[in-house]
Amino acid sequence: NINVLNMVAVEVIAADHARILPLACGLNDDLFDHDGQITKREIRALTLSALAPRRGEILWDIGAGSGSIGIEWMLRHPSMRAIAIEGDATRAVRIGHNAAAMGVPGLRIVKGTAPDALVGLPKPDAIFIGGGGSEPGVFDAAVEALGSEGRLVANAVTLEMEAVLLAAHARLGGSLSRLEISRVTSIGKMLGWRPAMPVTQWIWTK
Ligand code: SAH
Repeated sequence: NINVLNMVAVEVIAADHARILPLACGLNDDLFDHDGQITKREIRALTLSALAPRRGEILWDIGAGSGSIGIEWMLRHPSMRAIAIEGDATRAVRIGHNAAAMGVPGLRIVKGTAPDALVGLPKPDAIFIGGGGSEPGVFDAAVEALGSEGRLVANAVTLEMEAVLLAAHARLGGSLSRLEISRVTSIGKMLGWRPAMPVTQWIWTK
């Protein structure tokens, strides 16, 4: 039950347990309620950078998980809009709680599975694919939905999704990066690096 003050939209008032959000992208993972399915802080910062939000734009966050990407998109400016598409019902509910707690209750949540759940949504300026991208029709629907100059960013942790991104890179261009983050962890009384699974990121402007 944290009370997060959104510096963008809300005046800061002294309140017990209030938390003031930094202005930069890549908020701490523990600011979001999640079940482990969350784009980690370091990767999220790079993902928001790649999505290149501009005022008034609308994002589709496909496979939204905790909603962290759409929420950080909306935190950039009050004019931003985002739609979180999430197939898992529990997670879809959690996204709503996170959006309210982070001060962006206007985040639209679509509980449903891409590509079917994408039909009829307002046209996006940018799309993030964080889940479901290797399922039939999802990737192509995202490419199709974007207007000219629209950005598509997709993160892959599975080989199946990486194969989709390799094919996309060959067919459409864009840029591919491999993001490998390790965090420090205890080994008895000492410390060591615990690598997270590498993330392959494809960035493309239509
Ligand atoms: N970016 C998210 C984490 C995504 S995890 C965050 O930061 O919280 C991937 C998510 O994609 C999971 O929650 C999974 O339920 C969802 N998903 C997988 N396939 C999907 C599909 N076809 N349509 C919608 N959601 C999907």
